[in-house]
Amino acid sequence: VNTESYHFKVGAIECIAVSDGTFAYAPDSFVANAPVERFEQELRDHNLPSTEVISPYTCLLVNTGKHRLLIDTGAGFAPTNGKLVDNLATVGIAPADIDTIILTHGHADHIGGTADSTSGSVFPNARYVMWQAEWDFWNQKRPDLSAMPVDDHLRHLLIDFAHAKLPPIRAQLDLIDREVEIVPGIYAIPAPGHTPGHIALLISSGGQQLLHMADTVLHPILMEHPEWQPAFDLIPEQAISTKRRLLDRAAADQALALAFHFPFPGLGRVLPKGAAWEWQPIETFDQAADSRAAGV
Ligand SMILES: [Zn+2]
Repeated sequence: VNTESYHFKVGAIECIAVSDGTFAYAPDSFVANAPVERFEQELRDHNLPSTEVISPYTCLLVNTGKHRLLIDTGAGFAPTNGKLVDNLATVGIAPADIDTIILTHGHADHIGGTADSTSGSVFPNARYVMWQAEWDFWNQKRPDLSAMPVDDHLRHLLIDFAHAKLPPIRAQLDLIDREVEIVPGIYAIPAPGHTPGHIALLISSGGQQLLHMADTVLHPILMEHPEWQPAFDLIPEQAISTKRRLLDRAAADQALALAFHFPFPGLGRVLPKGAAWEWQPIETFDQAADSRAAGV
C-alpha cells in the first residue's frame, strides 16, 4: 500500500492526501493528564507500538479545476519528515503549480515547508491564507507557550520555526477572521484551542463533503478518551469544546473526515461511542481504497 499519496474525490473536487513523513513522540510526553500506563495499554489494544507514538504528517492537495490548493506544508525538523515537495513531485505537482496554501495553524509541523534554509519562499505563486489571531500570536517576539506541559526544547523549536517560516510569506498572505469561502467550495471553520487561531476546513462539492479537522484531535485513541488532553493543546478548555463541536458534527453528518496526524491517509468517519467517539478508517468501509492508494 502506498503511504506517500492517496487519491480521492469530494464531488467534482479531486483530492490527494500527500505525506510529509512522520515523527515519533514518547508516550509520556504526548498526553498531559493521563496515566502513562493506561495510554500505553490503549496503544497495545489498538495494535500499535507502545514505546513510541508514531505521528504521521499528512498534507492535502486539492484540485478544484480552477485552483490547485495545498492545506499545510509539513515540517522538516527531522530526517523522518520534510518530504512533502518530493512526494508532490511524485504525483506530478511542482511547487510553482500551487496557487493557494491554507495554513491551519502556526505549529512547526504545518508551516515548516513554507520557506527553505536560504529563506526563500518555496511556493512562489501561492497566496497564503491563515487566521488573523494565529498569525498575530506567533509573530509576537515571545509567544507565551507556558500553558503547554512540554519541555523547553520543544517550546523553543515551535517559536524558532514560526519566526523563521512565517515572515518570508508575509508578502503572499491573506489573513481571515470570519467563516469565509476561501476558494469556491472550501470554507474556513474556526476551531480554536489547539492554538489560538487553529482552523478546520469544509470542502463541499456535488452534495459530498470532507471535514478537514486539522489538529482538533491528535490521535484516534483521544477520540475514545476525550478527557485525556494532548500536551500540545495550548488552551485545553477551549480545545475540548472545539473537539466536541466538530466531532458531534462529523458524527451527525456521517461526513468523510480528515485528521492531519491520524494513520495515513488520515481519512475516515467519526462514530459516536457512548459519551465519546471512535474513528473508522476509510480502508474499513471503502473497498476501493486500497486500489486507489496503489494509484490504480
Ligand atoms: Zn500538528
